[in-house]
Amino acid sequence: MIDAADEAMTDRRQPRALTGRWSTGAVVRMVLIGLCLGAMLAYPRLERAYEVQIGDRDRATLELATQNLRGALNRAAVLPPLLAERPILARVLRDPTNAGLLPFVNEQLRQTALSLDVSDIYLMDRTGLTIAASSYRTERSFVGRNFAYRPYFTDALDGGIGRFHALGTTSGERGYFFAAPVSDERGIIGVVAVKITLDAFEATWAESGATIIVQDMSNVIFLSDRADWHFRTLGPMVEAALETIAQTRQYPITALRPLAAHSRPLGGANYQILTIDDPGGRAVYVMQTGLIAAAGWRVSILSPIAPARAQALTSLAIAALIALFGLMVSAVIGQRRAQLEQQLATRADEQTRLEARVRGRTAELDAANRLLRHEIDERVRTEAQLRRTQTELIQAGKLAALGQMSAALSHEFNQPLAAMKAYAENTATFLERGRMDEARENIRLISAMADKMASISRHLRNFARRPQDKTGPVPIHAVIADALDLMAPRLDKSAARVIPPPPGNEIWVTGGRVRLQQVIVNLIGNALDAMDGTARPTITLTLTVMPQTGRCQLALRDTGPGLSQDALSQAFDPFFTTKAPGKGLGLGLSISYNIVRDFNGRLMVANHPDGGAVFTVDLELTTPPAEIAAP
Ligand code: ADP
Repeated sequence: MIDAADEAMTDRRQPRALTGRWSTGAVVRMVLIGLCLGAMLAYPRLERAYEVQIGDRDRATLELATQNLRGALNRAAVLPPLLAERPILARVLRDPTNAGLLPFVNEQLRQTALSLDVSDIYLMDRTGLTIAASSYRTERSFVGRNFAYRPYFTDALDGGIGRFHALGTTSGERGYFFAAPVSDERGIIGVVAVKITLDAFEATWAESGATIIVQDMSNVIFLSDRADWHFRTLGPMVEAALETIAQTRQYPITALRPLAAHSRPLGGANYQILTIDDPGGRAVYVMQTGLIAAAGWRVSILSPIAPARAQALTSLAIAALIALFGLMVSAVIGQRRAQLEQQLATRADEQTRLEARVRGRTAELDAANRLLRHEIDERVRTEAQLRRTQTELIQAGKLAALGQMSAALSHEFNQPLAAMKAYAENTATFLERGRMDEARENIRLISAMADKMASISRHLRNFARRPQDKTGPVPIHAVIADALDLMAPRLDKSAARVIPPPPGNEIWVTGGRVRLQQVIVNLIGNALDAMDGTARPTITLTLTVMPQTGRCQLALRDTGPGLSQDALSQAFDPFFTTKAPGKGLGLGLSISYNIVRDFNGRLMVANHPDGGAVFTVDLELTTPPAEIAAP
């Protein structure tokens, strides 16, 4: 039954074993691969997000730079028309050789340039020759130089407002030129021009940290805080544009070299990713561009994307760390849970096994119980049967004892009868002779003998009767005396001496009078048998009262050979006898044993250390019956 339960449990354990088919190592490897894949997928998006963030951050800087530049240009653009209004300019144009007027105009232009904070103001005649200039005092004086090749001059001479940016051919400075016609009543007689430099902006940009470039329509970088990029080009140069540049001497043609750059749009935003391979190494930027339409300029801010990459990598690393931490935590939790499940499963298994065992044991106990009940019934039946048999056996035992005693009895009866006969004859003689005293004494002896015989006969009758006696208080001294009376003929015949218990107050024990008497008769009979042929045979009876245990013991010791080890262990077994056939049935002790047990007592046997057997009858002390106790 237990085996079957075990098998069932093995079956149930099966699915749990399957859950363990992914080893921890495999799970960790899978998660790591997943993390790597996730990182590979996430990295471009993260990088793009950070790039857009960088672009957004620098947008304001770009707008500020564009506005400032536009503002500076707009402010300078209005100066030439205002200056052209000055009558003195027309006067000097009309009279260019006037030695009194020229220094004055020169000085006036210098003062004005200073106060307006512009690089140069100069006045050209219709041929483009500079006749007065704010730089008249300096080494790089414009006076005497001809700027007819500059578009701003031709535009102004045509009556418009000229504007142009270029590397100054005289100053070697990059500048923005504005020009306006100077007219009198005859028409345009000259051109006044204002040049501003924009180097200050570059210095400001350099401080801001971002790289700003200003490209013209020919893709030439005109302004930038990166001085090494001045006049470099981003994107292709058109052949026609190169020609114009050469004609107008706008830039030194040799400086116009393209930067090794390429760009791609940054998806979803108005930004570009610009890669420039510099001699110093490759640099990648987020580029956004604003327009200054009037100048035909594109202002771009270039923000290095290295921080975006660093941030993306940092974020990924943090995410990976968090994921790994999470993995570790969940691994630990998973392991704990698995352990817990394992424990629960083990407990459940143990429980099931225990239950199965308990069921098995219960069934076994039930079976044992049934068997016991059956056995008890059997025993009860057997006991009833035994009791019946015992009663019969007691009777048989008594009859056997009577048989044994009959020889002694006939002697017992014959002797007093003969004596009585002799006494009676003597009495007659005494009466005839008138010896009354002797006659009376003889009659008393005869009467005593008759009494004795009557007593023996009464005992025999009682003894031979089927036991009717109930169990109750029995006076033990009296029972011993009865038994000795009954045995008197045999005792007289033998040489044995009987030492009865010293007389004292009657002791009452639980028993049946006749049955207890029979036990004592049996024990005395056995003792006599055992002492047959021994010198000075003696039977000693002792009574021990033990009020604290409520018991009383009658011990009967003889001076026979005692019992062998075999006999000691089997003496109370029915039909155990060591006596010759016809001498003993082996029932006496067995019957006595059962009788005493019926009294709630015990019959025990032992060998006395000084020799001989000791039979002890252990009985329950009790109170005398009411009618005896009352007086
Ligand atoms: P029986 O007297 O018919 O043999 P019992 O049951 O009375 O049957 O006695 C059984 C045996 O116990 C005896 O045969 C004898 O061997 C032994 N036995 C009994 N009483 C004594 C005794 N007082 N001394 C030695 N042996 C004894």
